[in-house]
Amino acid sequence: MPETVYAVPNIPTPNRPVIIDAIICTGCNDCVEVCPIDVFIPAAERGEPPILLHPEECWYCGCCVNHCPTGGAIKINWPIQQRGYWQRASTGQNFRV
Ligand code: SF4
Ligand code: SF4
Repeated sequence: MPETVYAVPNIPTPNRPVIIDAIICTGCNDCVEVCPIDVFIPAAERGEPPILLHPEECWYCGCCVNHCPTGGAIKINWPIQQRGYWQRASTGQNFRV
């Protein structure tokens, strides 16, 4: 008889450290594999975006974004107090915006 396993998110801290665009995401789960602290779990349906099960554990390391093979599918959602950015005076290029 198959065993049923339940995965339950931590409701008291519902932050969103990363945002996945469900239209662009292919559900490859590379981000699930690379995350050093298992923020995600794979979706139940193949090809669907992974589920952020433990968002409060995110280190904002960016590994999931860097490993995603599909450009624009996932991005970091910095906490508001960490959204400072810098501009290179010579070129006007912005960093971390
Ligand atoms: S930023 Fe790092 S810790 Fe956070 S979900 Fe992505 S890989 Fe995991
Ligand atoms: S690595 Fe990118 S395309 Fe693959 S599941 Fe994660 S967000 Fe989606």
